Amino acid sequence: MVTDHSKGLPIAGGKDEAAFATQRCEITLENARLAADRAGLTLLAGIEMNLSPTGDGDMEPELLRTLDLVLGAFHSKLRLRDDQTERYLAALRNPHIDVLAHPRGRLFNFRIGLSAHWETVLEDALRRDVALEIDGYPDRQDLKVDLLHLAAEAGVRISLGSDATRAGRLELPRFRDCCSDRGGDS
Ligand SMILES: [Zn+2]
Repeated sequence: MVTDHSKGLPIAGGKDEAAFATQRCEITLENARLAADRAGLTLLAGIEMNLSPTGDGDMEPELLRTLDLVLGAFHSKLRLRDDQTERYLAALRNPHIDVLAHPRGRLFNFRIGLSAHWETVLEDALRRDVALEIDGYPDRQDLKVDLLHLAAEAGVRISLGSDATRAGRLELPRFRDCCSDRGGDS
């Protein structure tokens, strides 16, 4: 899955609609080559769409409908300490979002992350079938364990993401099946 940033994040190489359309074509061509080589691998075209603090996306719906998966993510006003439930509910109302990426905006030893009435957020995510992401970048530790348990109890889908912004970071995620390793340090 390729999920480059959207145009609202130029500092992170955000792409506009035309660039994503071009990338969609490149991925289609690459998939044809992979199929011809019987590689057993299919690339999916996605996006990490920037969400405003009020939950609005920054890309045209016509583009989003052509993609295989749409991540929505907050990248601003991540240090607010008051309850952000309404922000999450607004984001979940966006009909194009499949996954809430790095949902809390937490960064270890740097940013505490947003808080919300998670039962309410999870109930709405379940109803709309939007997944919450476990972000594989080690500093994020975004869905802490108790929140992950709440999500599991609610039955919400969980998405595993690398958050790899360059090839070297693809090695970072160390997801493992904690059920087969109970008593570990997770
Ligand atoms: Zn992000």
